Amino acid sequence: MEGEFWNPEMELLSREEIGDLQLKRLREVLERCRRSPFWKEWFREAGFDPEKVSSLADLRALPFMDKETLRGGDPRRFLVVDQEDIVRVHASSGTTGQSTVVFHTARDIETWAELVARCMYMTGVRRYDVFQNMMGYGLFTGGLGFHYGAERIGAMVIPAGSGNSKRQIQLMRDFRTTVVHIIPSYALYLLEVFREMGLDPRRDTDLRMAFIGAEPHTESLRRRLEEAYGIKAYNSYGLSEMNGPGVAFECPFQEGMHVWEDNFLLEVVDPRTLEPVPDGEEGELVFTSLNREGMPLLRYRTHDLSAVYPEPCRCGRAHRRIARIKGRTDDMFIVKGVNIFPMQVERVLLGILGVGSNYRIVLETVESRDEMRVQVEVAGDLWHGEVRELERLRRRIVEELRQEILITPLVELVEPGSLPAGEGKAVRVGGTREHVRGD
Ligand code: AMP
Ligand code: ZN
Repeated sequence: MEGEFWNPEMELLSREEIGDLQLKRLREVLERCRRSPFWKEWFREAGFDPEKVSSLADLRALPFMDKETLRGGDPRRFLVVDQEDIVRVHASSGTTGQSTVVFHTARDIETWAELVARCMYMTGVRRYDVFQNMMGYGLFTGGLGFHYGAERIGAMVIPAGSGNSKRQIQLMRDFRTTVVHIIPSYALYLLEVFREMGLDPRRDTDLRMAFIGAEPHTESLRRRLEEAYGIKAYNSYGLSEMNGPGVAFECPFQEGMHVWEDNFLLEVVDPRTLEPVPDGEEGELVFTSLNREGMPLLRYRTHDLSAVYPEPCRCGRAHRRIARIKGRTDDMFIVKGVNIFPMQVERVLLGILGVGSNYRIVLETVESRDEMRVQVEVAGDLWHGEVRELERLRRRIVEELRQEILITPLVELVEPGSLPAGEGKAVRVGGTREHVRGD
């Protein structure tokens, strides 16, 4: 296994060593937090004495925090260092409302770059690679986060940013890009652009690997991308409140994402009762940053649903793995009394031959009844084919969706490329119905 580890000392810690290091780091974080007025008050209200923490479980005496806690008011109140020590600010992408702000010291940026380098190296990125970062630069963390990680490895970085599809493809060809970082829904859309340009990514590029993340996506979508681009696609999970990318990442075995537990303390809780759930069971991910200097967060609720894989990984890393994110607790919507996640719809659609590269769920109220309409782009060749074929496809989609979500949706087939394709995170659900969100 020599040479496969960026940071063997951290990556090869045993479970016991991870636990010890976490407790040590947790104590240090609490010690730093004690100095800030915000945390002092937070601890006091909870009747929590940070000096008495002697096990990781003791942290459970603290209340959870989430986006609501961070929103409103001066975001600098979460700093535990002087503002002069801050060198960078980032913010969440704000897909679920007002964005939240996170501050970093120089050391935080360093730690973050190391973590991302660790992720990329784990999957096989090396100095000789050409890495095209197709994520939005700026406040969004997917741009600079990966940029620094890749430079640390010594790969050549193309800071392409998001959008401008034809130019992206041109860059890939001009610089012989081998690795990309891309939003999965955009990667799917980009296939249409390749097709329009008369190009085949398998034949006409040197791509061998992609990092896909920033939004929920299914295994079927990953496999579709791997197949169409002729690459390996690795799932990358992170959130700006925990730096951004580099929180959890797939290893070459592609069976769940290793959470870097030397940096993040993971809890999985039942989103209703907030009680811990056993390994293997689905729950909401909650993180405590163990190695952040400027703005540590304790017991931060992500609203992301996943589960811990109980078995150790074949790659030899004891850092626990989490399953692909099923969705956010606030992604769920209810139609005719049934709880539905957009990813259930995606799983069905992408398993059907003839389905193109984009879809959208529209929720409406028709004559005071909930209706769910699914607009599905059809694959290019089929769209120009026979009407009978299209009708057969439509019926099949209705039937397979009904089996998955237990209600009968309206399915509308649309022309390839006709649905709005964003450059950022896909917005899968729209419509005129009010109060569509569950939770
Ligand atoms: P942001 O803070 O704007 O970067 O958004 C972070 C959120 O994006 C997470 O809390 C997740 O909901 C979502 N996200 C990021 N990476 C993934 C991933 N690999 N799979 C599913 N959702 C993801
Ligand atoms: Zn592994």
